[in-house]
Amino acid sequence: MRIDIITCLPKLLESPFSDSILKRAQDKKIVEVVVHDLRIYSLDKHKSTDDYAFGGGAGMVMSIEPVDRCISSLKEQLLYDEIIYMSPDGELLTQSLANQLSLKKNLIILCGHYKGVDERVREHLITREISIGDYVLSGGELAAAVLSDAVIRLIPGVLNDETSALTDSFQDGLVAPPVYTRPAEYKGWKVPDILLSGHEAKISEWRHEESVNRTKKRRPKLL
Ligand code: SAH
Repeated sequence: MRIDIITCLPKLLESPFSDSILKRAQDKKIVEVVVHDLRIYSLDKHKSTDDYAFGGGAGMVMSIEPVDRCISSLKEQLLYDEIIYMSPDGELLTQSLANQLSLKKNLIILCGHYKGVDERVREHLITREISIGDYVLSGGELAAAVLSDAVIRLIPGVLNDETSALTDSFQDGLVAPPVYTRPAEYKGWKVPDILLSGHEAKISEWRHEESVNRTKKRRPKLL
């Protein structure tokens, strides 16, 4: 998979992809993440990528031209399955959407800033809009990193233990059961006996029950 992320603040996207699972996925050549600095595509002599809003009001708006030039230049080189704009009013990111996107080959993710992008970008250049939740961030970079992480870890070969994504929350419509590690007792707080029993079938039954109970309590709408 290849993910091209378009941003006017490329530095914000350095660290999320330079460690742990996302770094390993790139080292293993399972995914390629390329960050594009929107300023390079600005024809303005100050390399600006935004302007005042027509009609007045506070806040700058990202201009269409640099975004169009960047997307067009990417599309000349590759076929993209989706051109995604990160937006607080977009489709909500869920595990099911992450699963769908993990099957795609090439994605573009556009990060907004300031008041957002000129509406014509959304009307003509974008194929999908995704939100990571009903709250407003200052820019789309952190949201793009969240989306990329949720998608990349689902691509086969990225996680070391292939089954571990399958037992995560939401993957089977339930939240995950509690997990413990050594020591078996700490300050008198004990790990449930069943997990120390070595009885695989019973452990798996217990985990399922815990998942169902937790889901009832925390995310009843999933059931
Ligand atoms: N004025 C806009 C918010 C702009 S916030 C509005 O009220 O809808 C600036 C940018 O941050 C957006 O263009 C978007 O790319 C990003 N962003 C903010 N909140 C987000 C969220 N919840 N999910 C995804 N992207 C978000």
